[in-house]
Parts: sequence; C-alpha cells; structure tokens
Amino acid sequence: MKDSIEALIELQSIDDEIRGFLLTREELAVNQKRLAEILGRMNAELDEKRAKLDEAQRFYNERQDDLKHDGERLTKAKTKMAGVTRTKEYAAMQREMDNLRRKYSEDETELKRLNAAIDEYKTSIAGQEEKLAELKAEVKKEEATSGDRLAELNREIDAIESRKTNVNGRLDDQLLRRYSRVLTRREGKAVVVAVGGKCSGCSMRLPPQLFILVQRAETLQACPNCQRFLFFVAAPEEA
Ligand SMILES: [Zn+2]
Repeated sequence: MKDSIEALIELQSIDDEIRGFLLTREELAVNQKRLAEILGRMNAELDEKRAKLDEAQRFYNERQDDLKHDGERLTKAKTKMAGVTRTKEYAAMQREMDNLRRKYSEDETELKRLNAAIDEYKTSIAGQEEKLAELKAEVKKEEATSGDRLAELNREIDAIESRKTNVNGRLDDQLLRRYSRVLTRREGKAVVVAVGGKCSGCSMRLPPQLFILVQRAETLQACPNCQRFLFFVAAPEEA
C-alpha cells in the first residue's frame, strides 16, 4: 500500500506539471490568435479607407473634368462675345459670363479643398500602413519564438507522459480509475496532504481515527468529504 500512496503522490505531481505545460501551450495559442485578430482588423480598416480614398479620387476627377469643361465654355463665350454688337444681346451674354466665372471660381476653390482633404487622407493611410508593417514584423518574430517554445513544450509533455506511463504501471486499474475520477471532479487535485488533522483539499477536519490511519500510511485513505486521497508529511523538527 505504501508504494501505491507514493505512486499516487508522484502521479499527482506529474499531472500538476502536465497541466502547467498545457496551460502555457494554450496561452501561446490564445496570444497568437489575438495577434492574428488585431492584424485582420487593421487590414480590414485599411481596405475600407483605401476604398474611400478611391471613391474620393474618382469624385475629384469627375469634378475636375467638369471644371475643365466649364473653362472651355468660358473661353468659347469670350470669343463669341467679341463678335456681338447688339447691346441687349451683349448684356445677356455678359450676365451668362459672370455666372460662369463665379461658378468656375467656386468649383475651383472646392476642388482645392477636396484635394487637400485627399492628401491628408493619403498621409493617414500611409501612417497606418507603416504601423501595420511594424506589427506584422513583430508578429512574425513572435510566431518564430512561440514556434520554438511550442516544440519545446511538446517535447516536455512527451517526456512527462512517458514518466506517467511508468507510474501508472505501479498502480492497479481500479485505483487508477478512481484517481482519474477524483482528478476530474476536484479541479485536478486528487491527492492532497493532511495537515493538522485537516484535509488540505477541502479543509474539512478529519475524524481523529482517520487522521491516525493517514499518518501511519499503511492503508490508502481518502477524505470522506471530497474523496481525495490523503497522505501525511511529518513536520520538520523545529530547530
Ligand atoms: Zn477533503
């Protein structure tokens, strides 16, 4: 029975170690996923901005064509006016010319404003592109590091699994099944120390008779409350 107790204690410590490794592995995966999500979001944002820029640029080009067209009309009107001699017609044309000139000047100002806005937008996109490139480089570096760490973790897990197989061989199947059951039900802790007459797993005070049996370690004992296997460690002698 003593060997069973020792084997159970060892098994518990192996399972604790494995849990630590698995947790680290999970953290690595979570971190990778988070970075990929950030990258994806930034890419989508940039695509949206680029599409908006294209649209603004198209609008600007159209308006510039309009302006060019208006400029041509203005030149034509000037030529035509030079040939007009009748006062009434001349006045009407003068009004039309004034309107054209005003519209042309307004449109020109608006286009300049639009062009400035487009330039500003382009700068903002370029800044964001730069940030994205930086982040991508960082992610790549991080991926290489976590790849190495992952391989190392897998090696460590393999090694510990083979140690576990050895320990399992020292326990009979029924006991192993019981251990697994308690491990699952009790947050990964199936073997705990009994200290000061209490189960350290659930803090329940053990019946004195049971505590004595645990201290003797001749039989395998479990906490009546949480069913965890109990073992005893003699307190170090006080100096
Ligand atoms: Zn307990």
